Amino acid sequence: MRQPPPRNRARMLGCVVAAALAASLIPSCVRQARSDHAFAIAIRSLERAPEVRVLIAKGTDHTVAIDGPFRIESGTLREPTGTAAKLSACRPALSGTGVSLGGTSYPASRLLLRPETPETGAVRIDGVRYRGDLSIVRQGENLFLVNVLNLEWYVAGVVGGELPIEWPVEALRAQAVAARSYAHFMTSHRRAQGPRIYDLESTTQDQRYVGMLKEASERERRILFQGAVLPTEGRILGFAGELLCTYYHSTCGGRTEDAHIVHRCKSTPPLCGVRCPTCRTSPFHRWEAQATAREAASALEALGIGAKLGRMVRIEPKPPEEGRRLMSVRLVGTSGTQTVSASRFRTAVNTQISRRAAVTAQTATALKPLVHSNAFAATVQPDGSWRFTGRGWGHGSGMCQYGACGMARDGSTFADILAHYYPGSDLTKIY
Ligand SMILES: [Zn+2]
Repeated sequence: MRQPPPRNRARMLGCVVAAALAASLIPSCVRQARSDHAFAIAIRSLERAPEVRVLIAKGTDHTVAIDGPFRIESGTLREPTGTAAKLSACRPALSGTGVSLGGTSYPASRLLLRPETPETGAVRIDGVRYRGDLSIVRQGENLFLVNVLNLEWYVAGVVGGELPIEWPVEALRAQAVAARSYAHFMTSHRRAQGPRIYDLESTTQDQRYVGMLKEASERERRILFQGAVLPTEGRILGFAGELLCTYYHSTCGGRTEDAHIVHRCKSTPPLCGVRCPTCRTSPFHRWEAQATAREAASALEALGIGAKLGRMVRIEPKPPEEGRRLMSVRLVGTSGTQTVSASRFRTAVNTQISRRAAVTAQTATALKPLVHSNAFAATVQPDGSWRFTGRGWGHGSGMCQYGACGMARDGSTFADILAHYYPGSDLTKIY
């Protein structure tokens, strides 16, 4: 973990406030420069947070660059290897038993590139800028490009990746706390299981992390940092003295789901599911989809069922209560029945519908005609097609993002939002 900078956090916040107070008394160009300086200090101060390692890309088909002076360290002990003024765009490659980078071969399976000014986003991977360091790790014939950075910078990149920054600031703050808590939980849990190359993936497999992609303007950067990250710095959710795995999703459609149903984990009060009347503005609150008879047959083929059930009669939900996320479906045909997990079934159906959507260019529409969640009812039509009606988008567990947006628009604070979606949880500042 990086050493905290020798600065006083309270003094830095004082700088930000003082800059704001003085803003009306000085010319705008000077005002901007001073304000930027104070803001840059505030961003740098976040280095006190723990370090996380986020997988950005795998393989040898990606370009990396460092815009400015940086140090190279190699091996797991981070031995200093050298320094360079900058790294022009190049593709890291396998070389002997080590790694080659920009024409130089290193006899090490791990390189850590550490920019002198990590807070400016000097690292670029496939053209996207990232704060922090770049770790290039070789494992066998695979290369892993990993962004190593402090948790707060990471949270800014997740808030930008998960929500439109035009949403109410209290919703962005709730997202920041949920993202930080999830990262903290997963990192602690995974590291306890043994050595790893990275802690988190940068996709919805964990959380969508986009580096500085959503900081195209100073205004956007300020919304992310002064709006969402700095006011919630170090705050996470716990329950009964332990870290809470703060699942979240796009749209629940009226009620969030028990994590026990969705993730097959132990049921705890903060993840049991709550009513959510505020996500009606989501385009995924209610939806319909249809698989043609041919697509239905192909989906059955993909599931390894084929025609052995005979003519399909009905698709029964399990659990049978209306409106719940399904754990499985029972496919009933004239020659037999078969139970499959709801997620597998949905994936098989969506794969077939997506092919048609691609052919007919329906993918250009905002609301693709897919089965968006496991909260659905399916009927077999006389012509053999399957009709789906459902609600929500995503797994449905934990915080509903559209619902959080609705609560914020109705005047709730981020603490209110988190208390609603994770009932009984404790909001704690850990640094
Ligand atoms: Zn909702």
